[in-house]
Amino acid sequence: MNRRDILKRLSLLTLATTAFNNMRGLAAPAAPLPVPPPAVPDLFAELGVTKVINANVTMTFLSGSLMQPEVLEAINSTSHDFANMFELQDKVGAKIAEMLKVEAAMVTSGAACAILLGTAASITGADKEKIRQIPNLPGPRPEVIMQKSHRYLFDQAVTTTGAKIVEVEGPEGMEKAFSEQTVMALFFNAAEKHSVMHEEFLAIAKRHKVPTFLDAAADVPPVENLFKFQKMGFDLVTFSGGKMIRGPQSAGLLFGRKDLIEAAKLNHSPYEAPIGRPMKVNKEEMFGMYAALKSYLARDHQKEWNEWLERAKHIATRLSTIPTLTTEIVVDPGPANAFPSLAVDWDHQRIKTTPKEVLAALKQGNPSIVAGGHQNRLMIGVVLLRPDQVDIVAQRVKDILEHAV
Ligand SMILES: *Cc1c(COP(=O)(O)O)cnc(C)c1O
Repeated sequence: MNRRDILKRLSLLTLATTAFNNMRGLAAPAAPLPVPPPAVPDLFAELGVTKVINANVTMTFLSGSLMQPEVLEAINSTSHDFANMFELQDKVGAKIAEMLKVEAAMVTSGAACAILLGTAASITGADKEKIRQIPNLPGPRPEVIMQKSHRYLFDQAVTTTGAKIVEVEGPEGMEKAFSEQTVMALFFNAAEKHSVMHEEFLAIAKRHKVPTFLDAAADVPPVENLFKFQKMGFDLVTFSGGKMIRGPQSAGLLFGRKDLIEAAKLNHSPYEAPIGRPMKVNKEEMFGMYAALKSYLARDHQKEWNEWLERAKHIATRLSTIPTLTTEIVVDPGPANAFPSLAVDWDHQRIKTTPKEVLAALKQGNPSIVAGGHQNRLMIGVVLLRPDQVDIVAQRVKDILEHAV
């Protein structure tokens, strides 16, 4: 039976059902029967790209997260018309600012871009000449204060602007670090250690009238974090769009003080020349980011959390027949990746394989499964699985472990 035949049969079936319902005095069904999706080519297959099941946490190299259906709808429905990108950024930003109860907001090409634009904005303000010159401003380099324990790979987004990072330790060290060149103080929210806590960091920077920036890229859930740090007093805050907010991977949020957001926009596309021009966000991603945030804020977060727990319990039950195996639902304390996963342990004398070998076997299979692990523990992430993948993951782990008994 070819596709046309299937469609024909389906529509006959629809007619027959409707006629049958009408005959029985029932209302015709409100929604038409589902039509099979058009036979689109499988581009994964066409290009020989391996499909991956992410039984871990959001990772950039694994394409972030899967976009919410509302996001795809926003991308598709807005792709047939042109828009003025200045107007779109302004209107989307105003709406996001309203949703997040903050002065101003914009869509960036991810949190790393937001760090760069926030730094650039702190350096240039609305000064057109500075915007043109950055990262090659004459004179001493602008300085950004960071705690030593907060240094991380992403701070290259700071130095890309030409700024240099001044490392500080403790409140006294921070107090002494300000100079004529200081333009911003950057706080990495998910750092393992803070030598200056949030409130004190803010108080010191405010005393020196220097804008504060908080990187909370991976720090939802909980949803409250989207509101917490602007309330605390940070001038700029960023979250990734492509992590648990489940927007486009190449989008992110930058929000906070209005003058700084306006300055960040001046340093960004669609202007031709500024430092942010190579970090363009397209029209559909802007609409998509807005749709993702709207959907994220409207979600029943308790229900979603319970679903995650159910998934972990389901996998645990499926594995429970394996001798010596024990499981534990572990909730990462965060602030990044603060959600439940399933930890799996077994007696290595009895089941002769290590978590590392299980991870390798999962990865080599088809579809490839990427799970996590700490040394002697296998960690199965549940929050990024499609509902139909929960059983696939459970079965594959079970097969691998049973094989090693
Ligand atoms: C993921 C992440 C980034 C980068 O975010 P993108 O949206 O991928 O640019 C920056 N900082 C932290 C702490 C992150 O976790």
